[in-house]
Amino acid sequence: MSHLPAMEVPSRLTRLRAAIERAELDCLLVTHLPNIRYLSGFSGSAALLAVTGDAAVLVTDGRYAEQAPAEIESVGADIGVVVSGDRQREEIRAVLRDRGRIGLEGEHVAHAAWLRYCEDWFPGADVRSTSGIVEALREVKDAGEIARIRAACSIADAALAEVRSGLADGPTEAEFRLELDTAMRRRGSPEVSFETIVASGPNAAKPHARPTDRRIVEGDLVVIDFGAMVDGYHSDMTRTVMIGTPSQTQQRMLEVVGEAQSAGVAAVAAGVAAATVDAACRDVIDEAGWAAAFLHGTGHGVGLDIHEAPRVGARSDATLTAGQVVTVEPGVYLPEHGGVRIEDTVVVCDTGAEPLTLAPKLTSVT
Ligand code: ZN
Ligand code: ZN
Repeated sequence: MSHLPAMEVPSRLTRLRAAIERAELDCLLVTHLPNIRYLSGFSGSAALLAVTGDAAVLVTDGRYAEQAPAEIESVGADIGVVVSGDRQREEIRAVLRDRGRIGLEGEHVAHAAWLRYCEDWFPGADVRSTSGIVEALREVKDAGEIARIRAACSIADAALAEVRSGLADGPTEAEFRLELDTAMRRRGSPEVSFETIVASGPNAAKPHARPTDRRIVEGDLVVIDFGAMVDGYHSDMTRTVMIGTPSQTQQRMLEVVGEAQSAGVAAVAAGVAAATVDAACRDVIDEAGWAAAFLHGTGHGVGLDIHEAPRVGARSDATLTAGQVVTVEPGVYLPEHGGVRIEDTVVVCDTGAEPLTLAPKLTSVT
């Protein structure tokens, strides 16, 4: 993916140090891999990153002896690398010992690990639980990050365009999922963004159904929720395809969710409360009499994690900021008729939203 613009990685450490200070800490041990990747460029599956006011050291194991320094150098991050076999604890202690208040990522450290850090790694130290420090830095994306999410979205668009007509041939949900996932991988997505949802007929009324051996037939609404990945960044899109001619109720569901989704996207702009975007979707669905059939929040941030801040829901206290990437995904689920959900991933701009998922909405196959 060398044609993608570079990301501004080195400044992330500077912003993190300011955030560590604001949190009244002296250092932070970063353990959540997407956070480590964000700060260092390292994409492997095992590492710890210790950050103090004047040092940053990534400790990994022998499998990444070449990859870790190469990735960190390629993004220009000022981070030292220590390759350690079973001396992780000693290496991290060498950086953090006597540094004062040590932050641990409370949302990502399991209880047993927490006890080990406190009792075994940093006995007697002032260890504090932190929440969302690096995640907050990740909310606003730089141009390089948006380019990666955009590239992932276009892989998903193209993959669906390639395989959609196959829905008319009566595949099972699981068979269609395989076709779609394969089409994304063929286009360069090394893995799928999350387990693809293909939910047809009665299954479409369950927002998070897993693909089954149910055969897709005439009269089904098929909810397809899926994403591709580029350089660790996710895409997220849902389209609902009608097989054949919709019933009156299905037609109404398609129209109402389509209108709700457009209203939600139209409400997105910098400075707008995330809850306002949720309300814009919900109002349309409420008015159609289906308030109780919209079973989930309206959306979420997308980036190195498929679900990240900000949350777009009725109880979200977030205010949208230019450069955030969020989804807008209202749905209506009626067990007798099936389900409809439409989801776009959009960039929050100063005056509106720029959709990154561009596949046509409300399509049917016969
Ligand atoms: Zn989705
Ligand atoms: Zn989503």
